[in-house]
Amino acid sequence: MEIYNHPTFQMACQQFDQVADILDIPHDDRDRLKYPKRSLIVSLPIHRDDGSTQVFSGYRVQHHLTLGPTKGGLRFHPDVCLGEVAALAMWMSWKCALCGLPYGGAKGGIACDPGKLSITELERLTRRYTQEMIPFIGPQVDVMAPDLGTNPQVMAWIMDTYSVHVGNSVPGIVTGKPVGLGGSLGRREATGRGVGYLVNRATDTIGLDIGKATAAIQGFGNVGSITALSLARYGVKIIAVTDAFGGIHNADGLNLWELEKYVAVNRSVVGFPGADSITNEELLELPCDILVPAALERQITKENAGKLKCRILAEGANGPTTPEADAILAQRPEIFLIPDVLCNAGGVVVSYFEWVQDLQSFFWGETEVVDKLFRILETAFTQTVSLSRKQKISMRMAALSLGVRRVQEAKRTRGLFP
Ligand code: NAD
Repeated sequence: MEIYNHPTFQMACQQFDQVADILDIPHDDRDRLKYPKRSLIVSLPIHRDDGSTQVFSGYRVQHHLTLGPTKGGLRFHPDVCLGEVAALAMWMSWKCALCGLPYGGAKGGIACDPGKLSITELERLTRRYTQEMIPFIGPQVDVMAPDLGTNPQVMAWIMDTYSVHVGNSVPGIVTGKPVGLGGSLGRREATGRGVGYLVNRATDTIGLDIGKATAAIQGFGNVGSITALSLARYGVKIIAVTDAFGGIHNADGLNLWELEKYVAVNRSVVGFPGADSITNEELLELPCDILVPAALERQITKENAGKLKCRILAEGANGPTTPEADAILAQRPEIFLIPDVLCNAGGVVVSYFEWVQDLQSFFWGETEVVDKLFRILETAFTQTVSLSRKQKISMRMAALSLGVRRVQEAKRTRGLFP
């Protein structure tokens, strides 16, 4: 499967191989579980505002179709490529299975810098991508959601393009849409709120007083900013945040409500009054109780894993820690890891709720959404901690084992056609 060759895909495969050994999965079953079911690459020509034509590359990977439709985010970022998307799709499969959701994993993306496109160019690009994807998606086939560089407005354009194609409104084609179009209350906050809930559970587990804890967060987009607010509600002091342009630090704690307002105007945390500047590298090595990578993959590497000074590493981002860094962290039992497939699962759990609400055209209140979200996360957290302790394996291996085992059993029960 050389078409997927990319460091992030290799990383996802390495993790899978370790889990397959732990679970003693027969070699005949391994490739069938590991490699994506199907992938599509499309070229997307659009008119730029200056009248020129530019062609972008778009991708969608559906990892497995065994348990239901596929589900996964859509990413707009210059580095998007087939291998990265395939890795993210694989992780989505294990995440959905860990949480007991009736989905396979998927992911998609367009290689572009959304910050350099006007709003009308972004709309044309999103609609063109959706048009190219039509034979490949549907509310019972593959359902997209926001990820890095995309937001509820992008989901609204996808829903509109798909609905115009079929001739009636199909809200269930995407999740993470605006609430007025059939989005779910609590979806925008779901990932960060889930991170907050799980960090709180982790502090109970290791006996840390959350009301006296400090946190540093890499990335201040949807996941990073809501995680910050959610942790602050548990009493955590947020001492540093970074984004793609730089970062800020204040040992006395940042005023998050002022920071939100500042970012809304300035599009970055950089220059926030009353804070010193800090780089992304410095943030990861800052002394703090809770470290939350909430931006990109492969941020915690063999170079810096030995230098982390946190008690809890809460992976808001997908794939922030390389397998080499995992090996170093395995020698550092003082750091409690909440692995990505568990830590950021709140997003897909509430996406599932949104999809269910859309299919039945019956909408829930936010309290019901949050209550159901926490129940699912609680079960996944408890099962992961318990398996990790019982088998003496890392939290990552425990979470992945639970997910992979469920997909393997479903495939075995369905059998192989023909
Ligand atoms: P976003 O686009 O809303 O925000 C991304 C943030 O990361 C921005 O603040 C951006 O400036 C920052 N960033 C980008 N490049 C950076 C760099 N090199 N160094 C530091 N910061 C950088 O995206 P998001 O939805 O918050 O997603 C963030 C991560 O969380 C991704 O890994 C995504 O796959 C994962 N995730 C998102 C969701 C969701 O519901 N949105 C769910 C699960 C996982």
